[in-house]
Amino acid sequence: MAQISPALKAFTTSSGHPIYRLTLKAFKNFWTYAYLVLVDDMQVLIDTGSGFGVCNQDLEDGLALAGDEAKRSIGLSTLTHVLITHGHIDHFGGLPHIHEHSSAKIGIHELDMRIIANYEERLILVSQRLNDFMKNAGVTDAQRETLLKVYRMAKLTYHSVPVDFTYEAQGMRLAPFEMLHTPGHCSGHVVIRLEDVLFTGDHVLGDISPHQSPESLTAFTGLGHYLKSLEDLRAWAGDVRLTLAGHAGPIPHLHARLDEIREVHTKRLAEIQTILEIPHTIAEVAHELFGDVEGYYGYNQLLALEEAGAHVEYLYQRGLLHIHNLDEIKKNSTPRPIFYSRLT
Ligand SMILES: [Zn+2]
Ligand SMILES: [Zn+2]
Repeated sequence: MAQISPALKAFTTSSGHPIYRLTLKAFKNFWTYAYLVLVDDMQVLIDTGSGFGVCNQDLEDGLALAGDEAKRSIGLSTLTHVLITHGHIDHFGGLPHIHEHSSAKIGIHELDMRIIANYEERLILVSQRLNDFMKNAGVTDAQRETLLKVYRMAKLTYHSVPVDFTYEAQGMRLAPFEMLHTPGHCSGHVVIRLEDVLFTGDHVLGDISPHQSPESLTAFTGLGHYLKSLEDLRAWAGDVRLTLAGHAGPIPHLHARLDEIREVHTKRLAEIQTILEIPHTIAEVAHELFGDVEGYYGYNQLLALEEAGAHVEYLYQRGLLHIHNLDEIKKNSTPRPIFYSRLT
């Protein structure tokens, strides 16, 4: 690993293909990484940043720095492929800008294709599901309005771009790159492998446990899928040497990190079962777990609610909880706060 400038770091695969890590400012106080990989005549960009604020400029500057380092011409127009790890805005939001200035082929997993190619439709549907989820979670009307605005606002700069290829349709590979479908954090999340290096997007991060949201909002998310995908990755990765994630530093010991992340969820599930010895809504569980969450104009509150919701859903799906106020729910046709309690 070589530090070339604060914005660029270089790595190599076992056979010497260069990898450049580009640091991109995705949102206020929030950074993400894109990776440029050079393999023969391919220039492959893995993820794009958010497209928000200075992020597209950071991307162009990072590509130029990589070009200086590699002593070849590199920019948006020279990219041959863009591989998206998953359909979250901080990873694909740069696509409209790239699409405008490049003929690079854009690839993503089937289950996230609609997010980047039919974005407006997706935003409407998920907003409605989120609204019902928050009503069931016991979020107050005023807070619900605020959080829905926050959800939409962070995504307004994007417009749909066409997808050139999807991963399953071509056998989960592109030339020497292989992909593993790892649903959970996002429906169509993939981990990408080139020789002895993994690109894990947000499936495995070095510093925090990746965000979970309930499957009731989007199929193929949810904690059950996520935990299974951790084990699928463990088996598939073998003795990989280096793991490069979408945020935070490289992960030298993947298997140990997988153990740590699993442990976070095991503890959180146990904690929720204790909380639910007394009936609580998901909003109340989120508050018990994470306290008064602030920052990102309320976005962190939404993340805390989804995280709590994913864990409560996991326990409920497995028959460990029941709904305490079922009679009240039965009498009303509109979504109402659901109180969960532990089955002992
Ligand atoms: Zn993500
Ligand atoms: Zn991310």
